Amino acid sequence: MTSVCNQKHDDSLEIHEVSSTPINVDKATVDYFGEKMRLATFTQDIDIDAIPLEWSATTAAARGPVVVSKYKKGMAKHNAIGAHAGPYSIYHALSVASKQLDLNHEPDYTNAHPPFNFPQQEQWSTPGKIVSMDPFGHMVPWIYGDIAKKENVDIKPTMSITKAVLSIPEIKEEVQRGNLIPDGKIVLNDQGEMACTKIAVDPVWHLPGVAQRLNISEAELRKALFQDTNGMYPELISRPDIKVFCPPIGGVTAYIFGDPSDLPKEDKRLALRIHDECSGSDVFLSDICSCRCYLIFGLVEAAKEAQNGGNGLVCYYRKEGRCLGEVTKYLVYNARKRGGDTADEYFHRTECIAGVKDARFQELMPDILHWLGITKIDKMLSMSNMKHDAIVDSGITIDERIEIPDYLLPADSRVEIDAKIAAGYFTNGHVYTTEELKKVEGRKWEGL
Ligand SMILES: [Zn+2]
Repeated sequence: MTSVCNQKHDDSLEIHEVSSTPINVDKATVDYFGEKMRLATFTQDIDIDAIPLEWSATTAAARGPVVVSKYKKGMAKHNAIGAHAGPYSIYHALSVASKQLDLNHEPDYTNAHPPFNFPQQEQWSTPGKIVSMDPFGHMVPWIYGDIAKKENVDIKPTMSITKAVLSIPEIKEEVQRGNLIPDGKIVLNDQGEMACTKIAVDPVWHLPGVAQRLNISEAELRKALFQDTNGMYPELISRPDIKVFCPPIGGVTAYIFGDPSDLPKEDKRLALRIHDECSGSDVFLSDICSCRCYLIFGLVEAAKEAQNGGNGLVCYYRKEGRCLGEVTKYLVYNARKRGGDTADEYFHRTECIAGVKDARFQELMPDILHWLGITKIDKMLSMSNMKHDAIVDSGITIDERIEIPDYLLPADSRVEIDAKIAAGYFTNGHVYTTEELKKVEGRKWEGL
């Protein structure tokens, strides 16, 4: 038997188009401790009967459900590669392996439906507008439940929507300082508690669309995803007919302040913060960067815009350490602190260790904005040129860019912020020269 994992790797191979020609490989099955296991399916397998999925179709029925599970009849009928729930798919497997999760468990979604009905937007079916999430992901149990039963497959939601009250110490301080006035609706009380609607989104990628965003071919994308994960998803290669991939990565949570139905309205103002996760600062208040301070600033401005009759929106992406992860991040911190922590060396230190300075691919980020029906942003609470350019290039206008006020910056974060400004981040203030960046120095470790 030929395993797809052992296919010859030819670096010189240039691939531009995904061939629809069936790959000539026998059905990949192995005997594993007495159980016959199928490693992958192939386009030409005679028992393959994928449930139709037409990305960008105008109705949920015409689009069809995303079926990624191979349980029940899923081996034949799945129409997506990967696994449900992003990185949590592995914990699901552990629950199965440890026999804590009954594979016959049928989810009971009674009362789990969204508290706000987000109306379908034109963008949901505009080709190329949404390529990294399932626009119908929040309604799956209610619109595709019958298909799941009829076809005997598992179909699970990839989005969910709820309401929340946020109780954040700095917001309370802003209220006490008189910078934020409780209105009983957005800012609920003098404790600074804020009401919001929030949406959790797991990534669902339409591979041709993702490739197009990154300006590469679908074949190049599939090849790199397959090979760089050490053959984790053979069907990226063996099933060119399947166009959807549920990747094992984190998603985004959107926090909406004000009436969500106002988000698509042109005459309603919108303040937006796109925030990429930084657990060290966001949660543990490490002072080496400006992340939590900018997050809080974004929340305050979002609440103010909502109080003025518009909307505030904070999108929190799981993109730790510029998508290089915390392990890389701390290695970079060490290299910075031991090698002279100056702003001119900030990005260089990351590149030395990771090979790249950023892996966030902001090109995919605006999808959540299009899903919400947003066409313009009045106040962009970010200095990032990458975020700005991705949003504008996707067809959404940005009126005003707001940088974080200096007084909010922790002392040790100047290295980061000045390096970013010098690299092209937005500012109304001073852009440092290379010579000046050498003098912006972070805290030394002595005494810690
Ligand atoms: Zn940070």
